[in-house]
Amino acid sequence: METTRTITYVDVAVDAQLADRDRLFTYLLPESLVERVTERQLVWIPLRKELKLGITIKIHAQPPVVMTRPVHAPVEPEFRLSPRQWTIVEWLRHNTLCSLFEAVSLFLPPGVTQRSVEYLRIKPGINLAEAKLTPAQRRLTDLLAERGELSIEATRQALGRSLASVIPRLDEAGIIERTARVKNRASVSATTRFVRLVPNVELDLRRTPAQRRALEVIRRRAAVTHGAALAWDDLVRRAGVTAASLKTLEKRGAIEIIVGPRTVVADSASRSYSQRVQLTAEQSHVWQQVVLALRRERFHEFLLHGVTGSGKTEIYLRAAAWALSRGRQVVMLVPEISLATQVVGRFIERFPGRVAVLHSGLRDAERYQTWQAIASGQISVVVGPRSALFAPFKDIGFIAIDEEHEDAYKQDTPPRYHARQVAREMARQHDAVLLLGSATPDVGTFRAAQENEIELLELRSRVGPRLLTDHDSARVNLALPTIDVVDMRVELQQGNTHIFSRLLQEQMTRAVDAREQVILFLNRRGQSTFVQCRACGYVEKCPYCDVPLCFHGDQRQIICHRCGYHKPPPLRCPNCSSNAIGYYGTGTQRVEIEAKRLLPEARVMRWDRDVLKRGVDHASLMQRVLTHDVDIVVGTQMVAKGLDFPLVSTIGVINADTVLHLPDYRAAERTFQLLTQVAGRAGRRAPGSRVVVQSYSPDHFAIQTACNYDYDGFFNDEIAGRHQLGYPPFLRLVKLVYRHSNEETCQTAAEEMADALARGAYELGLEHVDLLGPTPAFTARLRGRYQWQILLRGDDALRLAEYMQFDPGWLVDVDPVSLL
Ligand code: ADP
Ligand code: ZN
Ligand code: ZN
Repeated sequence: METTRTITYVDVAVDAQLADRDRLFTYLLPESLVERVTERQLVWIPLRKELKLGITIKIHAQPPVVMTRPVHAPVEPEFRLSPRQWTIVEWLRHNTLCSLFEAVSLFLPPGVTQRSVEYLRIKPGINLAEAKLTPAQRRLTDLLAERGELSIEATRQALGRSLASVIPRLDEAGIIERTARVKNRASVSATTRFVRLVPNVELDLRRTPAQRRALEVIRRRAAVTHGAALAWDDLVRRAGVTAASLKTLEKRGAIEIIVGPRTVVADSASRSYSQRVQLTAEQSHVWQQVVLALRRERFHEFLLHGVTGSGKTEIYLRAAAWALSRGRQVVMLVPEISLATQVVGRFIERFPGRVAVLHSGLRDAERYQTWQAIASGQISVVVGPRSALFAPFKDIGFIAIDEEHEDAYKQDTPPRYHARQVAREMARQHDAVLLLGSATPDVGTFRAAQENEIELLELRSRVGPRLLTDHDSARVNLALPTIDVVDMRVELQQGNTHIFSRLLQEQMTRAVDAREQVILFLNRRGQSTFVQCRACGYVEKCPYCDVPLCFHGDQRQIICHRCGYHKPPPLRCPNCSSNAIGYYGTGTQRVEIEAKRLLPEARVMRWDRDVLKRGVDHASLMQRVLTHDVDIVVGTQMVAKGLDFPLVSTIGVINADTVLHLPDYRAAERTFQLLTQVAGRAGRRAPGSRVVVQSYSPDHFAIQTACNYDYDGFFNDEIAGRHQLGYPPFLRLVKLVYRHSNEETCQTAAEEMADALARGAYELGLEHVDLLGPTPAFTARLRGRYQWQILLRGDDALRLAEYMQFDPGWLVDVDPVSLL
């Protein structure tokens, strides 16, 4: 019987760089695939000579104008975006001006692109003996006939490069066929063992030194991770604990040994040892509001503004527990997972067996496993960086963003999204509660709270000191450390040329004598920040970025901090051959040297990217501080953020002005945030701690308000300035940057774009958009490429940018967190 067959087509957004980011390609959907392919599904499609990934948008019967090729195959295992995910994709496309596929790629299962491998085989039913083939073609078909099926890669290795033309010919002639396969990854991750401390078990270990040592190591590490399980391998291989002693300790009940997959990190434990704390009065009040919102199961957004150590994390934990009790999922975002061990530890401890931690250390296979566990609902709490938002959640009840003001929440490659905005959209989709936490909220967020778009909750005091050890009910509020600002101009006038002011020297000495710890903060690495000839003034610069090279004494190199270019320091001036080479400016290495010089008996440790490069990780540095292995820590931003070091009583900010004078509308805000964060590292257990802030502009409002813990004062000044100058949150910004290796081409392209933008604004009849520039970007040159910048400002900025087409040389950043 004849049936009329309709031909089915599908529009696909493909994984390719296109000038028209909205462009879709139409493919034929072969009969054999009609049942298997639906909308919003990931498929393989042929594009030019390659197989590419694409996402199906619409299935229809409308023949396209041009000839189409068939869809190759669905990606296996099959993957579809849910309608909820699709709304986020659409949101991303409109609000970050990325392509559809770029937005989709955020949601793809880990490693999907790497997992696909293309295979070749002889088409069934082909008689090779009769085919007319060139010698090169013959070699390929012979090989395939012999092996059955081969990956392109293997074929290339066997036959060499001549394949480039051979494969498409044979493919077109219908002699061979290509298939895309997903590499099998199911069994990659084996299980590993973990060790977990059972609290409050007293053992007599006098006659068993190996066990005693093992237990000491475990106790110290558990203190850092807040009781989360420790990797067996790490203890045995790196900490030198014997396997036998661990097994005995388990028998004696002091530890638990857990076997589990490496991914679902260390938390396959069955019991929680954490004691439920009683909330302070302030916390209770906050919690009442949060629980009201949770109970409604409708979208609601809070800003939790609470000083460091005021117990914000405790609120996140309670809200998470509440959502879980309703069978809903929880997302806990942190700016950087490797610095968030303490938050992670507390989640794992509170919700044993239910937490997944997403971090960059995971191998693809492990990431994939975690992914599956989330999709199946086995895992209901996900702690991770911004990308954790895109895990395959079914039903989110609660999202928390810790340190919501951090720039790490903005992605700097397309799609250039901000996690706060995406989380807001998701929370809307899922009827979830969104909680933004910070001691120094983003100015835009705080403004939204003032305008009642977000509900503001506040924690004004630190949780009392004794609570942590006694668990008694004494709730003594812990005063925040005293902050003194030292005017470094006055120091100089009075004859002190040292990098440490007299007050700082005094405080460092006092602290070290009292067996307390000191943190010295400077957000510049290296020993000297520039190298200059004292005879002619010549400065050594990076040949690719035009910025001064910084001297790193530990490596005996001068290094570009933008691109990593390095070389040995000059013995003579390349310009005038003088040997009077001067080293100027201060970096962390110099601070380390000076600290040792001032207090020779003190143990000084540096904590910056140079140290981490040598294979040391954050956890081991953290350990050294917590175990009082060091007296003075010299560090960059890394030491400023979120860490809880009980013994730190004294903090020195070597130069508070490093960020302040940068040409960026958020320079004051960043300075305020950084100073507050750094100060928050001190005095977390005991009163009487001190912070010394050194500055050449001590009267600047950002420094003054930070030193008085006066967020409101800072905010009022800052928001007035933003209003006056026309910056966010009052006017919207879109940053456009063009990069090219030729300076003139770069400038011309930027100028042409500026003209096109002006025309565009006219065509659309837009009134609320200013065009600033084009000008060379603040980073005028990077890795050999010049950069020119245009700024669109105003309520219509996004509409104008959306209307334009940008070729791949352009970087488009909607709502940039920085103009640098
Ligand atoms: P934040 O997240 O605001 O920096 P945390 O939640 O980390 O603050 O709290 C600081 C310390 O006080 C932590 O060690 C935490 O365990 C403890 N803590 C918080 N709330 C309470 C409470 N109600 N009772 C006892 N200890 C608490
Ligand atoms: Zn010179
Ligand atoms: Zn460089």
